Amino acid sequence: MTASRVLVLNSGSSSVKYQLLDMRDGGRLAVGLVERIGEETSRLKHTPACGESRERTGPIADHDAALKAVAEELAADGLGLDSPELAAIGHRVVHGGKHFTEPTVIDDTVLAEIERLIPVAPLHNPANLTGIRTARALRPDLPQVAVFDTAFHTTMPESAARYAIDVETADAHRIRRYGFHGTSHAYVSRATAKLLGKAPDEVNVIVLHLGNGASASAVRAGRCVDTSMGLTPLEGLVMGTRSGDMDPAVIFHLMRVGGMSADEIDTLLNKKSGLIGLCGDNDMREIRRRVDAGDERAKLAFDIYIHRLKKYIGAYYAVLGRVDAVAFTAGVGENAAPVREAAVAGLEELGLAVDAERNAVRGDEPRLISPDDARVKVAVVPTDEEMEIATQTYALVKGSENLT
Ligand code: ADP
Repeated sequence: MTASRVLVLNSGSSSVKYQLLDMRDGGRLAVGLVERIGEETSRLKHTPACGESRERTGPIADHDAALKAVAEELAADGLGLDSPELAAIGHRVVHGGKHFTEPTVIDDTVLAEIERLIPVAPLHNPANLTGIRTARALRPDLPQVAVFDTAFHTTMPESAARYAIDVETADAHRIRRYGFHGTSHAYVSRATAKLLGKAPDEVNVIVLHLGNGASASAVRAGRCVDTSMGLTPLEGLVMGTRSGDMDPAVIFHLMRVGGMSADEIDTLLNKKSGLIGLCGDNDMREIRRRVDAGDERAKLAFDIYIHRLKKYIGAYYAVLGRVDAVAFTAGVGENAAPVREAAVAGLEELGLAVDAERNAVRGDEPRLISPDDARVKVAVVPTDEEMEIATQTYALVKGSENLT
């Protein structure tokens, strides 16, 4: 029997999320999460397809201990990492810079390059590297593949990827717009084409990935031509805790007049801004509840969020020239009907509209929420980054094309 399983690992600074998928049928054999690694109160939650969820609590010192615990849980379900059915491990890597345009089989050179990118991804790449090193130590013989959040965006033209700053300074510090959430934008743009009954290269799609982090992308014929996140995930849309776009001079002002340090401003803009900074909540469910109860601050936060979103829809409409579909995805995009309705309201002249009844229906499947006669389709397309990572990993190790 040929090996058909892929373990997907998403290693954060204090967490590891994992899924074991069977690529013959896309089935999820197990999903799980280890959180608060390095603390006394670490927790591992493991859910196999064949049974009930199990939890372990108590200290898990580091990523090495975390992965060993995951391996034990998998082995207890007969899904151990030593199984001959395991074809590869696919790792989410946040920053691949300009260099990594495709999923890549990991060797020492690749590891060194991911390490070289740490200055542009100081929060994410070190954790991703730790996960990779630990997994390689556990199964040195198994192909391990890095799937980069930035890769889908490497097709952006220079006109979209460059900031209008001094070229020598930008190049010396590798400052350019890389974009993130790439596996989600790739998956959702393809799934949207499928929903329309077309091939990816036949359609132009605006993808709105609205989670706690949020980004938009303009995808022409299957290739990304612009995206809203930049050098880091701070640029672009209003997010749960990030400001998104802002006059960069706000930073000098806060330094010179507000007496704040670079680190303090970094924390302000990444952790204390966006929805939480505007109204004290970053969960769209709570914000909507407050709006419905007449809360003015929540209403202002919602309006600012929608205003920015609408500007990006308009901008990407202009970038693409012709738009076949706008796709909403991730926690807010998939679940918050009022966000979808408000973002598209008033854009009828652009061929965009939402049917209220369709928009109100909840579901796990990709679906259209625009009226039948809409010139531009509006869709809700649940994202599946783990499946995309597994698909890309498996395709690479099997040397075949798209398998799902
Ligand atoms: P991330 O992966 O960026 O952490 P998710 O894509 O899981 O985020 O999205 C999380 C966000 O989705 C929550 O902060 C919340 O605002 C929003 N969300 C989740 N469920 C709902 C819901 N039923 N209605 C409205 N918003 C929701």
